[in-house]
Amino acid sequence: MSRKPIIAGNWKMNKTLLEAQEFVDAVKDNIPSSELVDTVIGAPALFLAPMAYSSRGTELKLSAQNSFWENSGAFTGENSPAAIADLGVQYIIIGHSERREYFHETDEDINKKAKAIIANGLTPILCCGETLETFEAGKTAEWVEGQITAGLKDLTPEQVSNLVIAYEPIWAIGTGKSATSEIADDTCGVVRATVEKLYGSEVADKVRIQYGGSVKPENVDEYMSKENIDGALVGGASLEAESFLALLNFVK
Ligand code: PEP
Repeated sequence: MSRKPIIAGNWKMNKTLLEAQEFVDAVKDNIPSSELVDTVIGAPALFLAPMAYSSRGTELKLSAQNSFWENSGAFTGENSPAAIADLGVQYIIIGHSERREYFHETDEDINKKAKAIIANGLTPILCCGETLETFEAGKTAEWVEGQITAGLKDLTPEQVSNLVIAYEPIWAIGTGKSATSEIADDTCGVVRATVEKLYGSEVADKVRIQYGGSVKPENVDEYMSKENIDGALVGGASLEAESFLALLNFVK
């Protein structure tokens, strides 16, 4: 089974609107065909509408970094997946470790978000990953299996086939200390095996799994050469246009 690679930047809470627009102008005509790779930027919600406008008709796809699970209502300060879909955005990152840690998001919340995002025709990028303590205790596999099982609860096989899962060890995010490609591949393999256990091998063969954690142009090829890794979720190295474009050089 050949799965289409997906490279997604996660800008987190960075950039001004002008910087976001300059980035789009610099990259939009230099991205490989979406027949070869899906190229996504996860921008702050406030920038998604202008970025969608300035990147229309190009190969650059957009992602939100979070959404709520209701489509409307009295939820001050939240963004609904329906409103995000309206902008022409295609992906929403959910369950990033920073959201789990600083905003106390639970697996149950993330599961509700996944369902709402799918119901609005968008693709969730569902993040999982362990702390350094869990890694050092040799409990990564059971931790990640638990997060994936809870995050996918009650989704259909077809829905799971189409989603993206990002394995991001927390100790490798923003630290410059990336997981070796063997560790990354092994744990992405655990994610795939969990999907297989829950949904069967056809779905496990289709679901795309990214590695995230200090991925940069110098190490992306190594990750992309691994069997279970179909892409990368990239923070720091996605912020500059030149570095972001260099992440796509593995596409020949
Ligand atoms: C991230 O933000 O999801 C991430 C992996 O960050 P970085 O690439 O900077 O480690």
